[in-house]
Amino acid sequence: MTDTPMVHADHIVKRFGSHEVLKDISVTVNRGEVACLIGPSGSGKSTFLRCINHLESINGGRLWVDGELMGYRQRGEKLYEMSPAEVSRQRADIGMVFQSFNLFPHMTVLENIIEAPTQVKGVKKAAAVATAFELLDRVGLAHKAKAYPSHLSGGQQQRVAIARALAMSPKLMLFDEPTSALDPELVGEVLDVMKGLAQSGMTMIVVTHEIGFAREVGDSLFFMDGGVIVESGDPREVLANPKHQRTQSFLSKVL
Ligand code: ADP
Ligand code: MG
Repeated sequence: MTDTPMVHADHIVKRFGSHEVLKDISVTVNRGEVACLIGPSGSGKSTFLRCINHLESINGGRLWVDGELMGYRQRGEKLYEMSPAEVSRQRADIGMVFQSFNLFPHMTVLENIIEAPTQVKGVKKAAAVATAFELLDRVGLAHKAKAYPSHLSGGQQQRVAIARALAMSPKLMLFDEPTSALDPELVGEVLDVMKGLAQSGMTMIVVTHEIGFAREVGDSLFFMDGGVIVESGDPREVLANPKHQRTQSFLSKVL
């Protein structure tokens, strides 16, 4: 089981009406790896992450997370759509961090973090609080447990959002441009937390324009454009030596 990839996306197709946003996306991410996804705006990066997390349904292809086919149960040759409850169970194992933090504004930092474990997983409050403090410690914000999100900087809010996702003990973490909304001086503290998480062995898919992060932390890099993966490989190799003209042109703009 341990050599089953954590994520295996096989020829994923996603349409919005007649607009085919993901044309044929195949991506494999092994356990403990950090896959970085780059590409121009509108290329389908967020849509791909949202498909992995069941925030969007797919129109073609198959997706496995941790060896489990997502959204379907297989009996013999036949596939049956999962019930909403089964889909929720699969989603609970996948953490997601958005560009816009999305913390609950009327809850303290601590309340934000214990909400899902207590409400969705039925974790006892005392245990959830203990875990929350461990996670806050990990992101350097234990002293902010009682603060409300509006009293935190963007970088601090994003670190809380990461702690909140981790509180569900995910086996996979998805990051959708987690530093794009931050003032430049706050980007580093969030990337440092993500780097620590990578070093702890978390499997991560990171959509980012932070090429330095991709080069330093990424195990693989996927360049996406127009709903297809144009080029992929070792980040250092792809970044130093992009083979496709579209990759070269994109990198010349962001590097
Ligand atoms: P990226 O994250 O790479 O910027 P997105 O995945 O957000 O790209 O979007 C890819 C394309 O899909 C864009 O053309 C966008 O307008 C379209 N799109 C995304 N979400 C929806 C939606 N819910 N309905 C219709 N079109 C959408
Ligand atoms: Mg996006």
